[in-house]
Amino acid sequence: MRYVIFGKTGLKISELGFGGIPIIRLSRDTAVEVLHRAYERGITFYDTANAYRDSEEKIGCAFDGIREKVVIATKTIKRDIQGARKDLENSLRMLRTDYIDLYQLHQIAQEKDLSAVTAPGGALEAVVKARDEGKVRFIGATSHNLSMAVKLVKTGLFSSIQFPFNFIEDAAKDELHTTARELDMGILAMKPFAGGMIDNADIAFKFLRQYPGVIPIPGYDSVDSVDEVVSFYNRPNIVTERDTHLMEKYRTELGKQFCRRCEYCQPCPNGVMITMAMAYKIIASRMSPAVSVEFSRAAMESVKLCDECGTCVERCPYELPIPEMLKSSYDLYEQHLAELM
Ligand code: SF4
Ligand code: SF4
Repeated sequence: MRYVIFGKTGLKISELGFGGIPIIRLSRDTAVEVLHRAYERGITFYDTANAYRDSEEKIGCAFDGIREKVVIATKTIKRDIQGARKDLENSLRMLRTDYIDLYQLHQIAQEKDLSAVTAPGGALEAVVKARDEGKVRFIGATSHNLSMAVKLVKTGLFSSIQFPFNFIEDAAKDELHTTARELDMGILAMKPFAGGMIDNADIAFKFLRQYPGVIPIPGYDSVDSVDEVVSFYNRPNIVTERDTHLMEKYRTELGKQFCRRCEYCQPCPNGVMITMAMAYKIIASRMSPAVSVEFSRAAMESVKLCDECGTCVERCPYELPIPEMLKSSYDLYEQHLAELM
């Protein structure tokens, strides 16, 4: 494992990080085992969030006693001073620590989010105060919206930016990463597998390793998954013509408008299983119609409940036309049903 300096924070961290979402599915003992394995294999950067159920608690349990050996990043989605303060105190308790290395304002997607957090009485005030008190070392931001992410970087308020980056969604490598680098900010790459759309870890990391200053934070749900990803980092990175073609094939197959399975659109007031239903075309491209129909039946039948209220569209950070996309997925599902009759 190689280590890099994380922008102006001066923190020395592993070039590969640890994303804290998948460990919420694991028992505490297994999560701790996975976290320990990551640490033993040289990973020193751990990203989590107050909102990731018991992820912070498991990280706190795993690193109790060796806290200073790891760099911990967490985040709040609260926009007001009281909410952020409460989240932060809760994170400190869950993580069993008296300081957080990087505290991020999470998912600043629109102007109204930025105005709310930076206004007097906004979340940023709570985090700045916590930094003055020594409870937070550095302040970062995360976003899924490219123009907003660029804006966040240019405010000069943050030491790091976290944004999706993978071979399907690589727009960040231009203005966002360039500006962040010019301002000596730390850069974190969320969604290295495009929210599960990339099922080939080998090429996913071949792509990412071409950008050594950008720290990916994949999730791990087993000791083997840690070993697999770390193994990519222990060999020379050679991107072959075949790899490039394969990446292109994924891009063509998914197009620009695809669901990243972030689940921010949920829950649907009418009970539509949006994420599963949105994935139907991908599932159908990888399985036979019979298997796809059987696998997705409940989700696809729930699409009939959509009354196009638009609630999910407002919540989707990628501004996807969800009802239209659901309809298009449903059309294919119906076509498959007809073929199977
Ligand atoms: S538009 Fe349809 S899927 Fe979206 S929240 Fe409304 S009912 Fe649910
Ligand atoms: S539709 Fe949008 S908000 Fe919902 S899971 Fe997909 S990308 Fe996320």
